[in-house]
Amino acid sequence: MSRVLVYRELPPDQLARLQAVHEVTVADPRQADRRAAFDAALPLAEGLIGSSFKIDIAGASKLKVISSISVGVDNYDLADLKARGITLCHTPGVLTETTADTIFALIMAGSRRLVDLALHVREGRWTRNLSDELFGWDVHGKTLGILGFGRIGQAVARRAALGFGMPVRYYSRRPIEVSGLEGLAIHGSLDEVLAGSDIIAVTLPLTDETRGLIGAAEFALMKPGAVFINGARGAIVQEDALLQALDSGHLRAAGLDVFATEPLPLDSPLRTHPKVTPLPHIGSATHETRYRMAVLATDNLLAALAGRVPPAAYPL
Ligand code: NAP
Repeated sequence: MSRVLVYRELPPDQLARLQAVHEVTVADPRQADRRAAFDAALPLAEGLIGSSFKIDIAGASKLKVISSISVGVDNYDLADLKARGITLCHTPGVLTETTADTIFALIMAGSRRLVDLALHVREGRWTRNLSDELFGWDVHGKTLGILGFGRIGQAVARRAALGFGMPVRYYSRRPIEVSGLEGLAIHGSLDEVLAGSDIIAVTLPLTDETRGLIGAAEFALMKPGAVFINGARGAIVQEDALLQALDSGHLRAAGLDVFATEPLPLDSPLRTHPKVTPLPHIGSATHETRYRMAVLATDNLLAALAGRVPPAAYPL
């Protein structure tokens, strides 16, 4: 039996799997009434399971494994975990299609102005036929540029190329063959993809290399009237440069599921910007997918604490 600290809510049946074999404390440190329990449990914990925010594990001297309920691992200091011999697990694959759906929803919403137009109806402004200043922009047939061509990038590419007849360009460190997309998705440098695409979607992980990767120079390379989508991590984009590209009229629209600071501060100009479709980081947030993520994260933790190879360890 090991001591496990659950720092984000788990479905009851997955919590029960942990409680059947381990001594479990459930304590989200962001809840004032659970902070003390979290602080007491952390130094004793051999396993941690949770997601979505950074926790300070300096005092967690017994820690053997962290099971993140996410595919992104940017909330963890990978070098520190490696040096301390702590196993890190994550949830790749089970959220790929749902996150690609979200990114495609943002492509559609930004291009066809779906939120604006829904509000137009909801707020009682649909009193006569639409004039052309409220018209959108076709998605089918447009060239989609995808930055980062891993699981989610490829899933977005399949939707675009096979469903919407969109030529796809992608930026990755090397060309990648994807079954079913032969000849339909073309590799290029970052600059080539930015300059050659009508719609650009970010599906990169947040790393030291990608932090702030998209700034003023990158927005300037995009075609006038391009649509920009970020479904990965907010800090990959320099938000002041994005705002400038929107305000100058260079970009047509942006669809953002992620922000440099989350929840998005009330005073962020991105929150109410007329050209921005903002979502509250819901890439994987469907009932089915969040459950699958919790199951995989629980499988990972149980395996690692039992000395077995976890199904999805992150290579440190
Ligand atoms: P993945 O399969 O690992 O794909 C990431 C791709 O990015 C890989 O092909 C990787 O290529 C490439 N890449 C990494 N660094 C790069 C760089 N500097 N330049 C060019 N390409 C680079 O991961 P995934 O499952 O698709 O997830 C991608 C990211 O999406 C996650 O890390 C997470 O942050 C984000 N995400 C967001 C949500 C949401 O709720 N909005 C949900 C899920 C995931 P290499 O093979 O060369 O490393």
